Amino acid sequence: MSLQDITDRIAKAESASGRATGSVKLIAVSKVQPNDRVEAVLQQGHRCFGENRVQEAAGKWPAFRESYPDVDLHLIGPLQTNKARQAIELCDAIHSVDRPKLAKTLARLAQEMGKCPDLFIQVNTGEEDQKAGVLPLDADTFIAECRGLDLPLRGLMCIPPVEEEPALHFALLAKIAERNGLDGLSMGMSSDFESAIALGATHVRVGSAIFGARVKPEE
Ligand SMILES: *Cc1c(COP(=O)(O)O)cnc(C)c1O
Repeated sequence: MSLQDITDRIAKAESASGRATGSVKLIAVSKVQPNDRVEAVLQQGHRCFGENRVQEAAGKWPAFRESYPDVDLHLIGPLQTNKARQAIELCDAIHSVDRPKLAKTLARLAQEMGKCPDLFIQVNTGEEDQKAGVLPLDADTFIAECRGLDLPLRGLMCIPPVEEEPALHFALLAKIAERNGLDGLSMGMSSDFESAIALGATHVRVGSAIFGARVKPEE
């Protein structure tokens, strides 16, 4: 696979579901990829990237930004409150807002720093113990709470359980977003982004299908 293959497949999936070309944003997930692979994708003109750790993002993106100032960096992994300031400094979007304490910290820092990335609330659609995200039953309340804090809510995000049919989870996320008047849907990865687009994804997070298998373990 290559960047071009993936953008072609996204365009096909957009038109297959009657969606405008370019309505889905491709986040190229560059976590634990060697810098030369990331550089190659930058050189092809792609600018939107995803990282799942603040530490790792801080280690590589300030340098890339010097050569490519229009990089659009999305944090897609769990965020500890003590890294929230650094995340706001580094990132253009955060997809993992998942608890009141983090929402309050982001609201306070946004006030103080005079800026805030676009925010997505992560929903634990599979209700998995090991996974971050608000439970589907708590989502409406948490969305209202974030709105009460004046946070720039862009939409919802989910990571379906590996063993289950992802479309069920994408449909659930879309339903929660719709009843709350949110139109951003961050869903779909290398193995299922076409199904996510059919169900309304506005942001797909694709790593290994663009860059190849991750060379280092994630944890
Ligand atoms: C790693 C990761 C991805 C990309 O996964 P691939 O299967 O390599 O496309 C997407 N979303 C999140 C939250 C991730 O951590």
